[in-house]
Amino acid sequence: MKNIKFEPVIGLEVHAQLKTHTKIFCSCTVRFEEQENKNTCPICTGMPGVLPVLNRKVVEFALKASLALNFHINPVSIFARKNYFYPDLPKGYQISQYDIPIAEHGYLEIEKEGTIKKFRIQRLHIEEDAGKNIHRADKSYLDFNRAGTALIEIVTDPDFRSAEEAASFVRNLRSVLQYLDVCDGNMEEGSLRCDANISLRPVGQTNFGIKAEVKNMNSFKFIEKALLYEIERQTELLEEGKKVLQETRLWDSDKGKTFSMRSKEFAHDYRYFPEPDLRPLVINNNLIEKMKKELPELPDQRRKRFVNQYGLPEYDALILTDTKNLADYYESCVTAVSDPKMVSNFIMTEVLRYLKKHSLEIQENPVTAENLSKLLIFIKNGTINGKIAKDIFREMFTTKKSATQIVQEKNLSQVSDESSLQDTVQKVLKNHPTEVDKYLGGVQNLFSFFMGQIMKETKGRANPQKVTEILKELLKTQRS
Ligand SMILES: [Zn+2]
Repeated sequence: MKNIKFEPVIGLEVHAQLKTHTKIFCSCTVRFEEQENKNTCPICTGMPGVLPVLNRKVVEFALKASLALNFHINPVSIFARKNYFYPDLPKGYQISQYDIPIAEHGYLEIEKEGTIKKFRIQRLHIEEDAGKNIHRADKSYLDFNRAGTALIEIVTDPDFRSAEEAASFVRNLRSVLQYLDVCDGNMEEGSLRCDANISLRPVGQTNFGIKAEVKNMNSFKFIEKALLYEIERQTELLEEGKKVLQETRLWDSDKGKTFSMRSKEFAHDYRYFPEPDLRPLVINNNLIEKMKKELPELPDQRRKRFVNQYGLPEYDALILTDTKNLADYYESCVTAVSDPKMVSNFIMTEVLRYLKKHSLEIQENPVTAENLSKLLIFIKNGTINGKIAKDIFREMFTTKKSATQIVQEKNLSQVSDESSLQDTVQKVLKNHPTEVDKYLGGVQNLFSFFMGQIMKETKGRANPQKVTEILKELLKTQRS
């Protein structure tokens, strides 16, 4: 089997927790930092004799997501009971949608290096979340604060042919849900969870191979790593003529491996049947039209607008619109500084580099848009130069001080004063007679040597444009 080339076939299931204020079938508040079991009632703890009442906001959020992801919306969809037994599921079943979900046949287009690829999405359905098991020492506890929280589950077609494609899909999907403001998209905290089905097949074959399901990948990086690991593991098995087992595997980020959790239960184990306590969900056109009108600008549209309105290169626009928070941060700086490309450069290099270094999200950035704008205005009006701005930014990031405060405290204002700069240039030329001779003899690149010396002399505070002018002028006089 060594000579056969295999290709991966990957499909994704994404669970997104909706940002509704209350749970899906009761009026309990959705908040997780609360004390365990505080936000519970007889409905979400599955007491006998209670009835679920569907939260209208859940339907509206699911519709917004469906519209943004180009879904066909089913005028009538059905809630179903998915039966399984686990301590964190108090009713012994989860209310979900099965045969007829709220939306089917959507897609998401992703642009990469100028080509657009379309990834199909089979379905989007509404369901409730389970509670949480907490294991401490030798005891297990149950927290039902999350039980009954609204989720949408998004199931793609097996359209991904690499780990990178799959990870990029989840990134784009998260971005859409964040722009819609229906999910906060925090993968580490579990508001966005992703499972993948992955199988391999010889290139050119249309039938699918046997797939394994991979769970527990709680970041984009882990999705990519776990799938790459799985591709390698399955390739080795197939090359040795062995079989891939149909099973569920968990990603262990510490070990960088997936391991077998359990052999796959089949769908019929869940004994799905229509939920007798809820009527079919009827969506009328008025509601769809209303939701269409409420759709905000989506990542793709914003990216295009950034190119048109601010004259940014595609690459900048793509990075700056990656999350809504980053795009908002950029736009508030541009409003204050009115130099779109300069703002973009500074955010894409300094701001994103520091955030990455400290593993922070843009909303956790210690330098507010207002403070960054002040710093950039200082560069623009010549108070400081670009190099010093970077040092100041580093300090703003660590101390949360404002740019103004740091510039004042450290006396960092740029020196633009003619006569004092002239003195410095003169001094430098006087101290380097050999270099001056060589320069006059035609070694042009010594110009930057002189610039460097002047900057050193002024501790980087000299206005580079003024220095260039003065230096040119004085070198000319040396010639005569
Ligand atoms: Zn409740």
